[in-house]
Amino acid sequence: MGNTTITNKKGTMAGSLSRGAVDFIDDARIGELLVPGKSDPSRVREVISKSLSKQPLQLEETAVLLKAEQPELIEEIFEAARELKRRVYGNRIVLFAPLYLGNKCINDCRYCAFRRSNPEQVRRTLSFDEIRDQVRALENKGHKRLILVFGEHGEYSAEFMAECVKTVYDLKVGRGEIRRVNINAAPLDHEGFGIVKSAGIGTYQIFQETYHHETYAKMHPKGTMKSDFMWRLDSLSRAFESGCDDMGTGALFGLYDWRFEVLGLVSHALHLQGKYGVGPHTISFPRLRPASGVEMEWPYLVSDYDFKRLVAILRLSVPYTGMILTAREQPALRREVMAFGVSQIDAGSRIELGGYTEFGDSQVLNREQFSLGDIRSLDEIMKELIEDDYIPSFCTACYRLGRTGEHFMEFAIPGFIERFCTPNALSTLTEYLVDYASPETREAGFRAVEKQLELIPDGSRKNDIVARLALIRETDKRDLYY
Ligand code: SAM
Ligand code: SF4
Repeated sequence: MGNTTITNKKGTMAGSLSRGAVDFIDDARIGELLVPGKSDPSRVREVISKSLSKQPLQLEETAVLLKAEQPELIEEIFEAARELKRRVYGNRIVLFAPLYLGNKCINDCRYCAFRRSNPEQVRRTLSFDEIRDQVRALENKGHKRLILVFGEHGEYSAEFMAECVKTVYDLKVGRGEIRRVNINAAPLDHEGFGIVKSAGIGTYQIFQETYHHETYAKMHPKGTMKSDFMWRLDSLSRAFESGCDDMGTGALFGLYDWRFEVLGLVSHALHLQGKYGVGPHTISFPRLRPASGVEMEWPYLVSDYDFKRLVAILRLSVPYTGMILTAREQPALRREVMAFGVSQIDAGSRIELGGYTEFGDSQVLNREQFSLGDIRSLDEIMKELIEDDYIPSFCTACYRLGRTGEHFMEFAIPGFIERFCTPNALSTLTEYLVDYASPETREAGFRAVEKQLELIPDGSRKNDIVARLALIRETDKRDLYY
């Protein structure tokens, strides 16, 4: 397997798989673990308590949670996820925005509006000036973290993506700047990952879409780049070997049985952890959304209730991994699921090409990949988070100080959150409140900051934090972090 090569879209060899690559998804084993039959309540409780003692779960343990069907046990799983969130991660939520740069695509994924056979989609790649227009609009709203999104196309080479990343970092408007740029795009070869890494990206995110081989083959027609299950499954390993040690994975829920996908994600996390000693930085769990030109029967759509179950079970299974909840979901559900240990959300999102400046308040389906469930403004979402007792954070400190694996450290190192995360969340929140917030959000936000400060023990540390916040409120000083 290790020396398998793949032909890329230019017709040249795309490169080798990672060292000792194997297909670690064992459909038969996962199938066996999910053979219908309820879990024994005492076993479910044992697994929950393992998770609450901060230990990652093995596949069979996750399966025990997935098979718990009794409503009272499911409630216990929800409560355990809330408890883990409260006890370990605290109440910060990191905010980011997606920025779609190009929707040309050589693939034909059956669920996606960007697929090449969709005549309804208006194709476009933003020019560098147009990218700057979008970034300007995002900075003027207060964003500090972006994820750049691309279709898979010859125009979107690693060099092009790297140029886009630099364009974003270089544009500073007033006190605004983007401090972390992540990427969601097609799998690259080792060289390609090296090129985007050297442009200073944070996370490289690639969703496996479905871990079920047969479904994967149905969704990604033969002869397309994306039809190669293994090239995609192996991509985060290649990313890691090329220096991108910050990797994001995910599954598109609704293509196949959600329980299978959860076990696929956990297998992926365990595999990366076992092979490199580093698990994925984040896991995303997008649900299938309506999209232009996508007409299909979807027998595996996930209900809201099962969505909540899968988020809670993922939280309990992979404690060292950040969890991303996207604006595909409706506001009320996002609010509820957030309490299950979600660490990042996007806010104020628009996913049409040019959507941050060109399309007003309503979505334009033939210019976006799928329809969003939550297009509230960043300010509205900030206000709701603050009212719900979260501390919205734009912190980028760990990545900039080379503290990679920050979610791991938050979780595993005693005192890490108090020392770094909370003060950095408070300073980035204060920046937002001073520079961008509406009067109502500002007022609620400053009250929240005061409340949070009261929880910090008196002493030199607290004095230092208070002094920093005063600097932000009273001067032009920005970007202060521990
Ligand atoms: N083209 C790259 C690739 O396929 O890896 C970048 C990914 S695509 C622009 C971002 C993600 O959107 C996909 O990986 C897929 O999981 C998700 N997606 C595609 N169609 C969707 C739909 N109809 N509803 C929700 N999410 C969708
Ligand atoms: Fe192209 Fe990605 Fe959409 Fe597939 S999911 S059609 S690869 S943009």
